[in-house]
Amino acid sequence: MNLQADQSVHEPARDLPVRAMPDVVVVGAGPAGLTAALAAAEEGLKVALVEGRSYVGGNLTIGLPVLGFLSQKGKPIIAGLPQRFIDRLKAQGAAGEHQACPLHVSLTLIDPEAVKLTALEMLAERGVDLMLYTAFAGVVMEGNRIQAVVTESKAGREAIVAPVVVDCTGDADVAFRAGVPCEKGDAHGGMQPPTLMFCLAGVDTEKLRGRLGDDPETYKADIIPGDYFGRHDRFIVVGLRQQLQQAREAGLNIATERTILITGLRPGEVWVNMTRVKGIDGTDPRSLTHGEIETRRQVGEIVKYLVGYVPGFENARLVAVAPFLGIRETRRIVGQYVMTAEDILSCRRFDDAVAVASYPIDLHRPDDNDCTLEWCGDCYDIPYRSLVPQAVDNLLVAGRCISTTHEAMAAIRVMSTCMATGEAAGRAAAMAVREGVSPGQVDVDLLRRQLLERGACLKSPT
Ligand SMILES: Cc1cc2nc3c(=O)[nH]c(=O)nc-3n(C[C@H](O)[C@H](O)[C@H](O)COP(=O)(O)OP(=O)(O)OC[C@H]3O[C@@H](n4cnc5c(N)ncnc54)[C@H](O)[C@@H]3O)c2cc1C
Repeated sequence: MNLQADQSVHEPARDLPVRAMPDVVVVGAGPAGLTAALAAAEEGLKVALVEGRSYVGGNLTIGLPVLGFLSQKGKPIIAGLPQRFIDRLKAQGAAGEHQACPLHVSLTLIDPEAVKLTALEMLAERGVDLMLYTAFAGVVMEGNRIQAVVTESKAGREAIVAPVVVDCTGDADVAFRAGVPCEKGDAHGGMQPPTLMFCLAGVDTEKLRGRLGDDPETYKADIIPGDYFGRHDRFIVVGLRQQLQQAREAGLNIATERTILITGLRPGEVWVNMTRVKGIDGTDPRSLTHGEIETRRQVGEIVKYLVGYVPGFENARLVAVAPFLGIRETRRIVGQYVMTAEDILSCRRFDDAVAVASYPIDLHRPDDNDCTLEWCGDCYDIPYRSLVPQAVDNLLVAGRCISTTHEAMAAIRVMSTCMATGEAAGRAAAMAVREGVSPGQVDVDLLRRQLLERGACLKSPT
């Protein structure tokens, strides 16, 4: 056969072995998927959780703090299962307190390795059937319903048959394959750029915060006043633009306008959020490969910058690079309701709220190397309808790919909110299975009462 690269080959149809028949199958075990699986299992359902990687946690494992547990007024707004997960980490010294932050509203430091193990323990305690090393590959449709989720692994292609499916892939992989209308990026398809996180040890963070606190004119942080650093020995600093400029003038090639550093839980540890490549599509492996190679190349330049220009980094050494490129944005489903920037900026309340959030619109702009931040001053609701996709009956979506615009997604994407939507989706899936209805038909007042009974926060605290 003489084939060209742009031609296709025919793959014959085949019958797939059924690997599992749970009540609910959750695809993706990041912050949203873990919480969705645990919530559905807590409701007494048989739950399967499919994860492509060798561990669970998604972006909870790449060195990021969890943002958004507190409101812009400093009140706790994410409770229930997400809080219980943090409490389990805290009991082992693997999570910090929720700490208010003038720029990021609130940060909660977590230990990535403890996240993986603790999540595994909690899933095992609830009897969740976890399938690692198992990629979601497609769906078998029966009209408007997903009859089976198809997986691909070393065991080949297999089917998981469940009455309700929850898509927590971050990329809306299941929804997209099932025919749910999806959108990607801004009006021109531009998506927030990805970042490969990395960790340095041996940083004198006391020296760093001393300079930030005592000489804020020279060591200038965006938004955060110098005295914050005097009061907190754990912090995120965004800024030091002058130092970056000096490094550039001296010939270093750095792809961002801002220094972004996050102190770790251990003394001397700092996670760096500064690699960046424009134009990457996280749903295209060729593009992802380019992003991985380019960001890995950037790590060395950024380390040189930090050691040479930022106080406290003189003796720093690279100790870890995150296991994968962090993807900020890809597909979003079009659901029963599309959340907008206006909903967020007007602190909009919804009758069908299943989570409360307060994180600002924090948009790493697709076209340049900077960021847009917009605060609303208080809280806004996440409506259940944004978790319910159009076109497919037995599917729910949680996490960063729920139904929003590009701008609204830049607010709801933080991991506390993703966990809260995961909990809502898991409990809604359980209701749908018990009542024999589709997720779009569940009694939302009852769902809200149930979420409240299980400890979730559905009201903006005063
Ligand atoms: C660089 C960067 C910095 C960020 N900073 C912060 C921060 O400081 N604090 C904060 O709270 N948020 C931050 N965010 C946002 C936040 O991390 C994400 O929006 C959030 O993790 C999304 O959660 P999720 O559960 O929807 O998806 P993810 O965390 O992406 O998890 C998805 C899971 O699904 C799995 N999966 C995907 N596709 C498949 C498939 N086809 N088959 C099987 N498994 C699959 C993945 O392996 C993964 O485990 C940041 C994001 C990035 C990229």
